[in-house]
Amino acid sequence: MKALVKSKSAPGLWLEDIAEPTIGINDVLIRVSHTGICGTDLHIYEWDEWARATIPVPMAIGHEFVGEIVEVGSNVNDFHPGEVVSGEGHVVCGRCRNCLAGRRHLCAHTQGVGVNRPGAFAEYIALPMSNIWKHNPGMNREIAAIFDPFGNAVHTALSFPVLGEDVLITGAGPIGLMAIPVVRHAGSRFVVVTDLNPYRLELARKMGATLAVDPRETPVAETQKLLGMQEGFDVGLEMSGNPSALREMITNMSHGAKIAMLGIPAGEMAINWHDVIFNMLTIKGVYGREMYETWYKMTVMLESGLDITPVITHRFCYSEFEKGFEVMRSGNSGKVILDWTQA
Ligand code: NAD
Ligand code: ZN
Repeated sequence: MKALVKSKSAPGLWLEDIAEPTIGINDVLIRVSHTGICGTDLHIYEWDEWARATIPVPMAIGHEFVGEIVEVGSNVNDFHPGEVVSGEGHVVCGRCRNCLAGRRHLCAHTQGVGVNRPGAFAEYIALPMSNIWKHNPGMNREIAAIFDPFGNAVHTALSFPVLGEDVLITGAGPIGLMAIPVVRHAGSRFVVVTDLNPYRLELARKMGATLAVDPRETPVAETQKLLGMQEGFDVGLEMSGNPSALREMITNMSHGAKIAMLGIPAGEMAINWHDVIFNMLTIKGVYGREMYETWYKMTVMLESGLDITPVITHRFCYSEFEKGFEVMRSGNSGKVILDWTQA
């Protein structure tokens, strides 16, 4: 089968013919139709320090996908050939304390699809049945392909109640962008978004931000004045991984405010703990998606009118993957989709 493979320990990604995966009794085999490119895939492409230390070579990468089931293992009763499904990108152990307690997103032994085990940038992928999410008939395929990062956005955005609250989102990458309509859907009042990239700020406005600003030109404190706010933001969603974005967020939160942190900083970062303590802030780290409450919420919010389609800005055939990675690298993109239906 065709697959995008990290086949050597060097920058790049190679379109190759590799063996189709085989399935065990608890697995599901899926013919992939559409995939999304994630920032993680870009790190693997570029072969940075994290990727070199993490990714086995050779291996097909990618974890955002949708496709149709073509075969199920003998122990699988709930899934059938022809069904349209996506895969949860974290394969959990099922045996640790959290897994046994039903808190699978807190598994201590998570394996990443396309990171620690073969990925979805391929004609076929095999996954345990416990990692399969079945889509309702009529689900938009491109949206289904990005349920994994959409789930990051939903998990973070719904970490704290936002009904009637003012929300600050730092970072308008694909995940920050998707969080905008989610917090609007969940009843927030103002949604202020920061980014340094004008293309992404424009996209943030399209996705429903009350204000989308470059903090170097319009500091967050200034947006509070523009909106007539008195006491700071109630909920912060840190989605840039940038230390100065978090610091500015902390100084603009109301007393008792909550911050959900999804963005991954490059290293350690210092913050003013006095603000956290004296303003009684809650800071919560967010990783992945809740299995499967986040997936349920994504599905029902889409059914009840949530629209995230503007986040998809580019579409390429899988064979043009270099163009997809190039536009991701430029930063002038939302979500980039690769179409595998011609493979
Ligand atoms: P991305 O890199 O495309 O988006 C980050 C955005 O932050 C960019 O648009 C960038 O211009 C902006 N930014 C940089 N400095 C800024 C600043 N000072 N103020 C405001 N914005 C600034 O990434 P993404 O795919 O949207 O993901 C968002 C973050 O979440 C990344 O850090 C990513 O590594 C992380 N992530 C975490 C998880 C998890 O499970 N915790 C999963 C996926 C991604
Ligand atoms: Zn576990």
